[in-house]
Amino acid sequence: MEGRDLIIIGAGPIGLACGIEAKKAGLDYLIIEKGCLVNSLYNYPHNMTFFSTSERLEIGDVPFVSNSPKPMRPEALEYYRRVCTSWKLNVRLYEEVQKVTKDNERFLITTAKGIYSTKALVLALGFYDRPYLLNVEGENLSKVKHYYDEPHPYFGQRVAVIGAANSAVDVALETWRKGAEVTMVIREDKIRESVKYWVRPDIENRIKEGSIKAYFSSTVTKITPSAIEIETPEGLVTLENDFVLAMTGYQPPFEFMKSIGIRFQQDDFHTPVYNETTMESNVPNLYLAGVVIGGLQTNKWFIENSRVHAEVIINDFKKKIAAK
Ligand SMILES: Cc1cc2nc3c(=O)[nH]c(=O)nc-3n(C[C@H](O)[C@H](O)[C@H](O)COP(=O)(O)OP(=O)(O)OC[C@H]3O[C@@H](n4cnc5c(N)ncnc54)[C@H](O)[C@@H]3O)c2cc1C
Repeated sequence: MEGRDLIIIGAGPIGLACGIEAKKAGLDYLIIEKGCLVNSLYNYPHNMTFFSTSERLEIGDVPFVSNSPKPMRPEALEYYRRVCTSWKLNVRLYEEVQKVTKDNERFLITTAKGIYSTKALVLALGFYDRPYLLNVEGENLSKVKHYYDEPHPYFGQRVAVIGAANSAVDVALETWRKGAEVTMVIREDKIRESVKYWVRPDIENRIKEGSIKAYFSSTVTKITPSAIEIETPEGLVTLENDFVLAMTGYQPPFEFMKSIGIRFQQDDFHTPVYNETTMESNVPNLYLAGVVIGGLQTNKWFIENSRVHAEVIINDFKKKIAAK
């Protein structure tokens, strides 16, 4: 069994930032990641542009130079690869953490490949692995996707896009522009206010002119290989359909967090209990970093504003070690 001072679960931007701070502090640390480096970013739509300018996505003082002020996904992948090699970070990829238990003062981490023991643990788990399901008949058909990569497969196809937030709007516009026949199914009575201000008029005008059809205040109730059923204010509508792109959001791995003893606040967002000045959870020496601390508010914390968690956590852990 390998023993460490600190293990970080998740090699997203914030897990990497924690690794950098741990390295700077001379700690014996390891980052364990279930997928590839910055796995969530890798699974974002291929043509996505970040809403942040590149310098706001920087970690570890490595400059992020991009072609436009706001970088695109391949530039971000390149950047975080560069960060990893510049700092020679200790990362194990394609190794999912399956279980965390406590053995006296230490954590025991069981992965698909081995068991580790560590004094302190950082969960930088993100939120992109668990999509909200529609929970309707037919959701398990292969034509239903909860992740979107690129528009080409949808050329000439009848596509239903579910949702009204940024992802749904981007997907609807991109697939329509590349030759799909797009229908949006939207639970609310309008496109979400949070949609990027420079995209909002585009989608609203496409809907107004009828290029993209939208059913507001409506939900999908059934999916079959060749159709979808939609509950609308005017009654049940059945549409012929080839693909369903369910852009209904994602949520953090609450069950996994609960299994380690993390408690949640009594609020609407299932916010984990943590100390804002140290980022330590209710479990001693177990820290939370990045987007995962927002609970269901997955847009409250992002790379820009959670990069700072890394320094806070490592400073606190250093103080604890020094006090012993
Ligand atoms: C389309 C889109 C655009 C965005 N644009 C921006 C932007 O412009 N600016 C910005 O600041 N933010 C943006 N965000 C948000 C930002 O990407 C996230 O907030 C950010 O990825 C959070 O970083 P993180 O390290 O906390 O989590 P993540 O990047 O999600 O990393 C978590 C990692 O943990 C791994 N993991 C999870 N469970 C386990 C396990 N059991 N074992 C091992 N590994 C595990 C995952 O595979 C993942 O790699 C955007 C998000 C989306 C969806």
